[in-house]
Amino acid sequence: MCVLISLRNQAFVSSMPNAVVMVVGKIRHKLASSCFDSKCFYSSRPVQNIQKSRVPKMFECSNLKVNSKESFKFLDYDCLGFDLDNTICRYKVSNMVKLEYKCLANFLIKERGYSGVHLNRPIEEHIDFMIKGLILDVERGNLLRIAPDGHILHGTHGTKKLDDNELTSYYGTECRWETTTLFSQNPLKTWNGPYSKVVRPLLDYFDMPAGLIFARAVDTIDEENGCKLEKYNIYSDILDALQDMFHKDNFSKNTSEYFTAIKEHPSDYIQKCSANMMDWLVSLKKQKKVLFLITGSHVDFASFTSTHCMGPNWKDLFDIVICFAKKPGFFTDNRPFIGVEGFKETEEVTDLQTNGVYLNGNWAGMHKFLQQASKKNNPKVLYVGDNLIQDVYTPAVNTTCDVVAVCEELEAEGIFGHSKNHTDQDLLVSNIWGSYFHRVDEFKETIWCGFIKKHAKLCIPSLEYVAQHQIDHEF
Ligand SMILES: [Mg+2]
Repeated sequence: MCVLISLRNQAFVSSMPNAVVMVVGKIRHKLASSCFDSKCFYSSRPVQNIQKSRVPKMFECSNLKVNSKESFKFLDYDCLGFDLDNTICRYKVSNMVKLEYKCLANFLIKERGYSGVHLNRPIEEHIDFMIKGLILDVERGNLLRIAPDGHILHGTHGTKKLDDNELTSYYGTECRWETTTLFSQNPLKTWNGPYSKVVRPLLDYFDMPAGLIFARAVDTIDEENGCKLEKYNIYSDILDALQDMFHKDNFSKNTSEYFTAIKEHPSDYIQKCSANMMDWLVSLKKQKKVLFLITGSHVDFASFTSTHCMGPNWKDLFDIVICFAKKPGFFTDNRPFIGVEGFKETEEVTDLQTNGVYLNGNWAGMHKFLQQASKKNNPKVLYVGDNLIQDVYTPAVNTTCDVVAVCEELEAEGIFGHSKNHTDQDLLVSNIWGSYFHRVDEFKETIWCGFIKKHAKLCIPSLEYVAQHQIDHEF
């Protein structure tokens, strides 16, 4: 998470004064009232009413496997890599999202002078508005969901639904925006640079609450101005709020309400790995598999969460640990590895050692280490993670790794062969937006479903699910 923020901030130095918004002019179009049955918008039908016959084939073929023709076994890989947050380390998502929301709202109200009228409302009032994977149209104040080809499936302005007429007034009769089209073709082209200033995908449970913050801030500004604005300048404040919450130095300095709360009450926020899960990892180690961890979290926070979920000897499970890895750049760029002593950075390292812990780094260097550690020129490498850009799309497109996507929504929605028993399903499931994987009314896939189908070998609700099976289980 720290990575995502720091990467974006390279291209996003806030020039905003403390004022809430710059009023450029009135909205160009007269907007029609909202309409639930709109073709371009979502249906209010509950997710659980989805007809089995309409489930996309990729998941119907197999509960988990994306390409049903290939067999998939974890044991087939020489090297297995894992993301930490929301992959090995599962959070109690509702508690965490509520904490994050509170931190973001407090920052905007106290530090940037936003009204608390909407921002201070309980998150429960908009629990159904929240879903992973919303895309912010930063300047227009809209939140969108898009199809695999980038066209806009449906959206809101603030928290208010956009109907067909409203969508076409913003995005034309084809419901297209060049930025989302580009994102669908290559999301990394919008990660930094000018496009990153106008679009932001909310990819995981670390930035999911920023969607409701953004929407409520838009509602606030519209009310204060008595109309919609042509351009909103909220986003830089939200980036600053995220930075204030997640900055890597805040964990050790106790300067973030977020880190302080997790430090004081870890059991409220972090789930412990089951005995099954620990046995599964140990079984892979016993088979001489090379296990590695690549996390965006800084080494102190990663050690804290890992100790809580895996126990004090967690490092023994991995042949190498990379923290503050700055994904997706880790898989595309050539940043050097930095050594660590305790939690302190030391110096640039070129020769990675087994059992080492490093910061930053790059995939080319990592792959060289994996060749040495596995004693194979072309080791078969798997990477498992939850963030569909950082952990799935980027390694799948830029390395020779196979990728497994972790998507808790499989379980939360109780679909594609999974039982609906996720403890945070009220938060993760949205009857407003419909399924994470598709738009309910017309059964069009979302871009997230498209990314999983195209780039992942397997999609799982959690590693705990996999760990119920032996390591040689064929999915
Ligand atoms: Mg993660």
